[in-house]
Amino acid sequence: MYKCWKCHERTTVDPNTMGIQCEKCGSKMFYKERPNVKKTIKAR
Ligand SMILES: [Zn+2]
Repeated sequence: MYKCWKCHERTTVDPNTMGIQCEKCGSKMFYKERPNVKKTIKAR
């Protein structure tokens, strides 16, 4: 699942596909929706 970077509209289309655009705002930037936002990163 991916979300529009601009308006956070969800899209089921793979953003890797050429020519994908947000239906809402026309943005071409998407980010992957992560279930776990709070991810603990171990520094060492
Ligand atoms: Zn959008």
